[in-house]
Amino acid sequence: MTETPFWGPDFEQLAQEDPEISGILLSELDRLRDGLQLIASENFTSPAVLAALGSTLSNKYAEGYPGKRYYGGCVEVDKAEVIGIERAKALFGAEHANLQPHSGASANIAAYGAFVKPGETVLAMSLPHGGHLTHGSRVNFSGKWFNVVSYGVREDTELIDYDEVRQLALEHKPRMIICGATAYPRLIDFAAFRAIADEVGAILMVDAAHFIGLVAGKAIPSPVPFADVVTFTTHKVLRGPRGGMILCREEHAKAIDKAVFPMMQGGPLMHGVAAKAVALKEAASASYQEYARTVIANAQELCAGLAAEGMRPVSGGTDTHLGLIDLQELGVTGTQAEERCDRVGITLNKNAIPFDPQPPMVASGIRVGTPSVTTQGMAPGDMKAIASLIGRALKDESGTEADEIRTEVTELVTRFPAYPR
Ligand SMILES: *Cc1c(COP(=O)(O)O)cnc(C)c1O
Repeated sequence: MTETPFWGPDFEQLAQEDPEISGILLSELDRLRDGLQLIASENFTSPAVLAALGSTLSNKYAEGYPGKRYYGGCVEVDKAEVIGIERAKALFGAEHANLQPHSGASANIAAYGAFVKPGETVLAMSLPHGGHLTHGSRVNFSGKWFNVVSYGVREDTELIDYDEVRQLALEHKPRMIICGATAYPRLIDFAAFRAIADEVGAILMVDAAHFIGLVAGKAIPSPVPFADVVTFTTHKVLRGPRGGMILCREEHAKAIDKAVFPMMQGGPLMHGVAAKAVALKEAASASYQEYARTVIANAQELCAGLAAEGMRPVSGGTDTHLGLIDLQELGVTGTQAEERCDRVGITLNKNAIPFDPQPPMVASGIRVGTPSVTTQGMAPGDMKAIASLIGRALKDESGTEADEIRTEVTELVTRFPAYPR
């Protein structure tokens, strides 16, 4: 057997040198394998992505951009970043790409930094209706440094109220309008947002963190033709390493690059940049497109299954990878649901629903997503079983059925191993 001349992750050495941490790594792998992972913002990265992440590229200082670095020795990392940029531009049909943001929140700080000055007005989706922390929360930089005005969903349809968006835009004349959310199950009308942004002369930023993987897989429409700037995470449906990315029009390329470095970050994580390049190549494949379509079909079946168990999908269902589920008719809060699922090995999160009567730490709903179970190989026909397990766990107030449900969860996931042994 020829040996790969690669110096990379050596688990044996870690186990010898640091049994405490190596033990945690193994237990976490067991947790992933033995439970059902329904967190809408998580996924299982491929071994190839993990190999790039565990490489010596982590050692390299590469402040700057390919060909214009502040450090020597960047010849190899330059190649990785150029390949990643070209793959991102090709996959999304974008004029410019920046792969350096350390996370989705960092990508958003850069977009604000490129287009808005402190104190100026930004129009974004309200958090209780599905927006993200970085869309104006008072405890976040966005709410502290900018004047953020919020739009929400209509109470009757639970869909974005585009009339309200337009009215607020005309009234407040924002410098920038943000669309994209963290708990909105439906497609967003990017053309409508573009028209409103044009009417008031605002920059249109699409925060595609959650759904960019579905765009990459050509399963839903792309925001790229409509937006000035598109920010996103690389670790959600897209299934890459934990990190952020920005796409923009050529006219904004300089402003975005300067906002990422040196305004907001120092040295980029070049192992992460290389891993993003690997993930982009995977996402350009026909099998990934099939994956993206199945993620949506699974989410739709899961919503239907949960509805049959007496839970109400907000807005009536989903067009994407996630369902937002109102539990009020079951008389169970989001917190209780999270705990009851947790004790049977089903991982999901409590979530506020629009016009939620409960405080956010209690919440009336849960958010469920299908990126991980679809990576495991589950199909729409398997979603009914998941819905039934969730339904039984939620109705089992005393926990007497917990052991039995947990056994069934284990049986189900054993048929679809994440990271097969
Ligand atoms: C997840 C998410 C982010 C933040 O990503 P992090 O990598 O956690 O910083 C930003 N915006 C939206 C809409 C998200 O869903």
